[in-house]
Amino acid sequence: MSAPRPDLIIIGGGSAGLEVARIASRAGRKVTLLEEGVGKGRNFLQLVPLLVGKIIANPKFANHATTTPQKGLDHRQLPVILGRGLGGSSRINGNVAECGPRVRYEDSFPFWPKNMIAQILAGLDRSGPCTITRQDSWSDALSGLFIASAGAVFPKSQGFFAPKVLGVHTKSGLRFNHFDGYRLTAIHKNISLIQGAKAVKLTFDKKKITSVIYEKAGQRHELCADEIVVSAGVVQSPLLLMYSGIGEPDVLKQANITCLHPLRAVGQHVKDHPNMRIPFATPGHNTLNQKTRGAAALIEGLKFIFGAKNTVLRGPGASAGVNIALDDLAHDAAIRLQLVHFTQDRSVISHNGIQFEKTQKASIGFAPLWPSSEGSITLDANGHALIDPGFLTDPQDLMVAKAGLAAAYQLIMAMGFQPDQLLPEESQESFLRSTAYSGYHLLGSNRMALTPDLGVVGPDFETFGLKGLYIVDASVMPDHLSSHSYLPTISMARFFAHKKGWESAI
Ligand SMILES: Cc1cc2nc3c(=O)[nH]c(=O)nc-3n(C[C@H](O)[C@H](O)[C@H](O)COP(=O)(O)OP(=O)(O)OC[C@H]3O[C@@H](n4cnc5c(N)ncnc54)[C@H](O)[C@@H]3O)c2cc1C
Repeated sequence: MSAPRPDLIIIGGGSAGLEVARIASRAGRKVTLLEEGVGKGRNFLQLVPLLVGKIIANPKFANHATTTPQKGLDHRQLPVILGRGLGGSSRINGNVAECGPRVRYEDSFPFWPKNMIAQILAGLDRSGPCTITRQDSWSDALSGLFIASAGAVFPKSQGFFAPKVLGVHTKSGLRFNHFDGYRLTAIHKNISLIQGAKAVKLTFDKKKITSVIYEKAGQRHELCADEIVVSAGVVQSPLLLMYSGIGEPDVLKQANITCLHPLRAVGQHVKDHPNMRIPFATPGHNTLNQKTRGAAALIEGLKFIFGAKNTVLRGPGASAGVNIALDDLAHDAAIRLQLVHFTQDRSVISHNGIQFEKTQKASIGFAPLWPSSEGSITLDANGHALIDPGFLTDPQDLMVAKAGLAAAYQLIMAMGFQPDQLLPEESQESFLRSTAYSGYHLLGSNRMALTPDLGVVGPDFETFGLKGLYIVDASVMPDHLSSHSYLPTISMARFFAHKKGWESAI
């Protein structure tokens, strides 16, 4: 007897896919959820916030790729890390929960009612449903110094821009995010979960979705439904479309794929935060470089076990942040600055994850908050992905990054320290281009727009010209909505729920 036909198939059980599955199941829909990874999302290393840094390079938890040589970054090729298994990238992310300012959503989605935006953001930002409440991460005297100094140096920074301890989703110190929301509040009898299942192709009857072909344990299977939601993330979602013959005809031709449905924006308009750091010595203040070694580490571990509120294990390696608007430089120019409470050789992420150095140092990380540079995800002649985030290819981003460098210097000195190096103006561009790394906030590869010449999905998340095929994940975001991309991605799932009339099931 064959399995009953689901109302909805969701491809990808990551941040957005799990949230769509959770809400759809609560709205009484029968869902089949296909997830490539096999992890159940409850591994010890992913539960303790700081230890997540140890697993980001572990192939058990993540897929790894490399960008194409980055024109804006001295042709360096950078690592791309994508979480795999239930929770997707939220299994391995820094867990920094920052929804972003409402005006950013209103500007990016002018076609959506403002009251819907306000309602969704109110549910997500501070305390949302599914018992997920944003907590302050750990902090210490150095974090306090960062916050006080940022407040003094950038006094106009308020609201979303204000200096603060990072917000995280934890419960009793353990990570507790939308994966836990899914586990606890989805109606699981309505969800058929197939793990270890990689979707490889979508099929259509004329312009209507009919099925997904997936591979599991070396076998091919076909699963049919009238509605399919692709939530495979910023890299895999456009690739699945392209492998199914949907995309820019020249890109498909180059990979010997017959174009069934031309859609020029597939894989285009990719963005990420280019992330740079300035290290500085912190005399009088131990950083994670010391706090995670020897007796100090033992003490932090014991504090954690006995439930102390302020141990470094309760949050990510960065502890505080501030956003600065640079309206005098250009409209919408802004910088994100974070206290990265350690130093590392960023060119090396071993199988053991991030390796803290031993010196008494921290760094200020900075990035253009709303970067203009765009890249793409396309295919080579063998059908392999070419991932090009286009870092620092727009001159405006270089200008903002330079302002970020100046702001980082200013902040370090206001904290009473000295940056390792004070670069003269003439060497700054080369420093920025040779040291930027991915902020791991990729988005936009199937962006939402009003018309098919500008985007891949319309405001209802349906793919232009293809009935029943929806895309819901970070790939539909037309631009950055916050300093981080996880909560904005969850918001996409909730906007989709509103469009489907499932808002009472959120
Ligand atoms: C190392 C790292 C640190 C980060 N830190 C932060 C942070 O601190 N704060 C923040 O806000 N954001 C952070 N982010 C970004 C944030 O986690 C992502 O923007 C968000 O999780 C993207 O969600 P998604 O649903 O689009 O994709 P994902 O969560 O990546 O989910 C995609 C899912 O689809 C599955 N999949 C892929 N292809 C297929 C296929 N063909 N068939 C079946 N399944 C498939 C994958 O296994 C995965 O589970 C970080 C990301 C990374 C990688």
